[in-house]
Amino acid sequence: MLDYTKLDKILYGGDYNPEQWPEETWPEDMRMFRLAGIDILTLNVFSWAAIQPSEDCYDFSRLDRIVELAEKNGIRICMATSTGAHPAWMAMRHPDILRTDEHGIRRKFGSRHNSCPNSPTYLKYGPALAGALAQHYRGRESIVAWHISNEYSGECYCENCEKAFRDWLKEKYGTIEAVNAAWDTAFWGHTFYGFEEIVVPDYRSEMFEGGRTTFQGISLDYRRFMSDSMLRECLLEADEIRSAVPDAVITTNFMALYKGLDYAKWAKHLDVVALDCYPSNGDPWTRTSMTHDQMRGLKNGDPYMLMEQTPSVTNWQPYNALKRPGVLRLLSWQAVAHGADTVMFFQMKQSIGACEKYHGAVISHAGSEDTRVFREIAALGTELKDLGARTLGSRTAASAAVLFDWDNWWAIENSAGPSTDIRYLTEVGRMYSALRSMNYDVDLVAPDQPLDTYRLVCAPLWYMVKGRDDENVRRYVAGGGTFVTSFFSGIVQENDLVTTGGYPGKLRDILGIWVEENDALPSGSQNSFRYGGREYPAGILCDILHLRGAQQIDEGGYTGDFYKGSPVVTVNHFGKGRAYYIATASGPEFYRSFLGDLCREQGMEPVMEVPADVEATCRRKEGARFVFLLNHKAEAVKVRIPWDCAELLKGGTYPAGSEIGLAGYDVRIFEIPDGSAGCQQV
Ligand SMILES: [Zn+2]
Repeated sequence: MLDYTKLDKILYGGDYNPEQWPEETWPEDMRMFRLAGIDILTLNVFSWAAIQPSEDCYDFSRLDRIVELAEKNGIRICMATSTGAHPAWMAMRHPDILRTDEHGIRRKFGSRHNSCPNSPTYLKYGPALAGALAQHYRGRESIVAWHISNEYSGECYCENCEKAFRDWLKEKYGTIEAVNAAWDTAFWGHTFYGFEEIVVPDYRSEMFEGGRTTFQGISLDYRRFMSDSMLRECLLEADEIRSAVPDAVITTNFMALYKGLDYAKWAKHLDVVALDCYPSNGDPWTRTSMTHDQMRGLKNGDPYMLMEQTPSVTNWQPYNALKRPGVLRLLSWQAVAHGADTVMFFQMKQSIGACEKYHGAVISHAGSEDTRVFREIAALGTELKDLGARTLGSRTAASAAVLFDWDNWWAIENSAGPSTDIRYLTEVGRMYSALRSMNYDVDLVAPDQPLDTYRLVCAPLWYMVKGRDDENVRRYVAGGGTFVTSFFSGIVQENDLVTTGGYPGKLRDILGIWVEENDALPSGSQNSFRYGGREYPAGILCDILHLRGAQQIDEGGYTGDFYKGSPVVTVNHFGKGRAYYIATASGPEFYRSFLGDLCREQGMEPVMEVPADVEATCRRKEGARFVFLLNHKAEAVKVRIPWDCAELLKGGTYPAGSEIGLAGYDVRIFEIPDGSAGCQQV
């Protein structure tokens, strides 16, 4: 975690790239930052070429001047290691650092996130640079965090990676026979007689149209290997920093719901999780909430850093709409409401060249404080200063959890059949959004995490049940827990090999059902079913199941097709708990109705009763609870407060029963002493 003994407020700032500007402009930047209440700058994110002109030479002189200027202005530093983009000279002299893409094409120098993670050059010079920086800046009290590289991502299929993949497989499986068994290589005559026969699964081998694969086992392991390869490089940098600065707080910035890397595995090695949060135009607010809850769940609920967001626009979408007045403030507080303890931007000063020149910034091309965006930034800076340390380090006590697993995500979307419309995030989002929109706090956690504190655990589309994860859920349900899973679950084990004996495999006894077939519905077509007196759509996949101890709780099963009447929603009493199965994908109204029923049965209270599209979350610490109310609509709403409380942003106290207003996109934060009603998650 961040060192809270050194913080007296939520840090406010972001990525600053003064190396792109003449030095004489820097003091004016500092004036603008002070005006906006900025007190942290992330420095040195893309400066490798500037600070290392050759193999045996570092030049930190300009970075020294930037650091000193920030310190003189009372600004803390998040020090990046610059290894997110290698220098051109390095690519020319040591071409092994260049990546090879999925078509087998060796890339030339260019772009960023461009280093092969298994390149001897990268593994030598990347960690060496991190070590040199840490040695040079050790003892600087102003540095509150070390930011390794930047947005690790992508993949490489070069010969170095191929050799390293074989080593990774030897380490994992021991023998070639074990690899053959894990990948079921008897299929299509793939049997290997030595590790040297194994090649990378790119378009020259197993890959076809749209990155799909003919051999799931090897492609799944390659994704794991690529995530592990980048993590290994990250940890080499972390080791170098820690050996120079033993109490360093180390992070790297995650890209929210990014498929490429197993963040659950990465987060174990970081001191604090950091999020780059860029909702797309039209994203529902619950998707952004899910992003935040995922970040919080990666380290057992520890607060995280909001490392990047745009003050106004992004530059990479087809249509980069402005954040409407008030939305910058709303989305910043939304992050805090879910567990962020910093509010930071990309970028602090708008570049004039290359692909991010139209991305929003604290200091825009106009260089003026007399802009709408700057005024909103400065007003938020004042609010954060006034709030001080009150909410820092507070935690969320969610009573509901949604299981989330990268292996499962990769395996589902590698799968050939039953439907290309099956999307993991969509199915996770259906259950998460229902709970969040009813204002239940929700944790996103890995399937091997302890579940005992939750009254409700949902595992949407739990296709791959690894190792003893089923035993974790079995113990939870037997002990009295309420568990929900959905269609196409329990199908395979950790190597993507089908668990035979009937679906849903290792979950059969918990769920008390047997799924005999699943019918993929073509896009645009649907079946339906009735639950709680209403009819709901059934789409994407319709499991056709038999009850084996479970009871049907929908009313009459599917309404159409040859499997009309087959159960859709079932419950199995297992030990002291209950396990529910939803045999198809339905619409948002169904999930709200069904999960709402389960929450009420479990005596779970939402954070607060609020109008639609107003979000209420709760963080707690030291005898107090903080309830965040966020109005995601442009229209004003009124809310009745159920507890005696004090308001933290606008000031004042309110007795229980007071009616208060939220303007469009408004945010209000209330402190409720323990002992008051409301905010009852345990
Ligand atoms: Zn490579």
